[in-house]
Amino acid sequence: MCGIIGYIGTQRAAPLIIDGLKNLEYRGYDSAGIAVLQTSELFVKKDTGKIAEVFSEKDLETIEGNIGIAHSRWATHGGVTKENSHPHLSNDGNTAVVHNGIIENYQELRKFLTENGFVFKSQTDTEVIPNLIQYFMQQGTSFMDSIKLAVKKLEGSYALAIINKNAKKLVAIRKESPLVIGVADHGYFVASDVPSFLDQTKKVVYLYENDMAVLNDKMEFFNIKDNLPVVRKIDNIEWNVEQAKKGNFEHFMLKEISEQADAIKLAISQDEKQIKEVADAIMHAKGIYFVACGTSYHACLSASYKFAKLANKHVNVALASEFPNYKDFIVPDSLVIALSQSGETADVLEAVKAAKEKGARVISLVNVVGSSLTRYSDETLMQNAGPEICVLATKSYTSQLAILTLLAYALAGKYEEGKNKLKELVNSIYYLTSTNTREHIKQLAERLRYVNHIYLIGRDLQYPTAMEAALKIKEVSYIHAEGFAGGELKHGTIALIEPGTPCIVFTSSENEKKILSNATELKARGAYIIGVGPNNNELFDFFIKVRESGEANSICQIIPIQILAYQLAILRGCDPDKPRNLAKSVTVK
Ligand code: GLU
Repeated sequence: MCGIIGYIGTQRAAPLIIDGLKNLEYRGYDSAGIAVLQTSELFVKKDTGKIAEVFSEKDLETIEGNIGIAHSRWATHGGVTKENSHPHLSNDGNTAVVHNGIIENYQELRKFLTENGFVFKSQTDTEVIPNLIQYFMQQGTSFMDSIKLAVKKLEGSYALAIINKNAKKLVAIRKESPLVIGVADHGYFVASDVPSFLDQTKKVVYLYENDMAVLNDKMEFFNIKDNLPVVRKIDNIEWNVEQAKKGNFEHFMLKEISEQADAIKLAISQDEKQIKEVADAIMHAKGIYFVACGTSYHACLSASYKFAKLANKHVNVALASEFPNYKDFIVPDSLVIALSQSGETADVLEAVKAAKEKGARVISLVNVVGSSLTRYSDETLMQNAGPEICVLATKSYTSQLAILTLLAYALAGKYEEGKNKLKELVNSIYYLTSTNTREHIKQLAERLRYVNHIYLIGRDLQYPTAMEAALKIKEVSYIHAEGFAGGELKHGTIALIEPGTPCIVFTSSENEKKILSNATELKARGAYIIGVGPNNNELFDFFIKVRESGEANSICQIIPIQILAYQLAILRGCDPDKPRNLAKSVTVK
């Protein structure tokens, strides 16, 4: 899940790629490194720590050279050490490689290379790649052909940027890991994601599976399987640089929480015809499977309730990594609806591939234009939520919920009604993200900052909300939190409730009585009850009012807990944009 970037052009590479890397830091931030070609030597600097710790301002000013590659790591193979950070060099020091992905057969390749006299300095899977290239070059093969031969030996997933001290070119290859080319006036970029070079160019070329790009003063593309040239077109990015920057906000997380009213507006400005066509496909499919991971999975769970309630339609919901368990039921009439903000989530792509092999139709809901999932799907609904940089999903979640709600209404033949209901939400969302609400929730954050556990309950649509809210608290504040269906806590976990244990209770007008009796059970054990919903109640020690909005409760009720999670992170000294051990787009299985 690392971020990779490379540059070749007329400007100094170091400041461009180190700056660009900072915009990719959400993908991995345990170590960072750079390799730059300097008059036929490779200058390498790498270390553990965040990018700003590894590179000083002086580095930006002094590292010369117009061809370079850089990496921000999220370790999969080998600990977080200087030796394991990228770039990795061949034994002769001639070739440098940055890699995002996993080389599954690296042990076998390492053994082969060791037997041929190669010495390994790291524990990574990546280090076999520059050494395989050296191995083939030693046999008299050219740099380019050696890359092709080396790549043929690799099993697994890889986005690679490669340079060699004797070649004035930058080579990029992708298989199952994202990679995009940026076409600037002064040169070319290659990177894991667009925001890394957005301040230099909005012109991009998305690489396809098994593409190899060779960049020097022109760009050429080949398919690495058959070695034939391929044509790739230049697209224009509509996001602007400001959208990908923090602006007046201290953190991307708060900025993105605050952008939710606008993200909902954009989400519901979907092409009506397309929404109705997707609804029709759902109507006629034999077996519908929602497939996603993490936060997107919670959106699917929420949607399954909405489809059942509003449109009397049953859908299956599967965690993408567990989807293979259903594979025997997938037939050509099945419909798989895959959700992924980045469109690069490895588990989702794997599930989609399995479904396609069985002949099923795949429709995806994705935020990032041109991502792999959009290409694997028969049809894609774009979220249009704008770039989400913080590792935590906030606006992408509520935007997914808005589109899925609209879809449920369309399925019930009530598209207009659904659209109007969602439009009515926008003002409530502005209020929920306002300074007033934030100040109110801050008092709660002060009260909870030292607790070890938080439990969350909700019934019906509030159940997925409880799960998503628990995930938000956990991933950013590192407080243990668990979300349950209201009726479920008493089947075991209530044993953990002690005097003062904080419990967040999501209510709605529809299930108020039932969920309040669950809250009473908790209160009887001394729990500190936080109510989130339309009406205050004497059971609540703290109350956050969220106006009743029926099926759209799921969109509004998560927002105060996103804010709570953010404030807990700040009070506990955690970095909300880069929580430990996490990366934004999980491109490894
Ligand atoms: N497998 C490589 C490493 O551990 C790259 C990791 C990744 O892409 O997340 O260094």
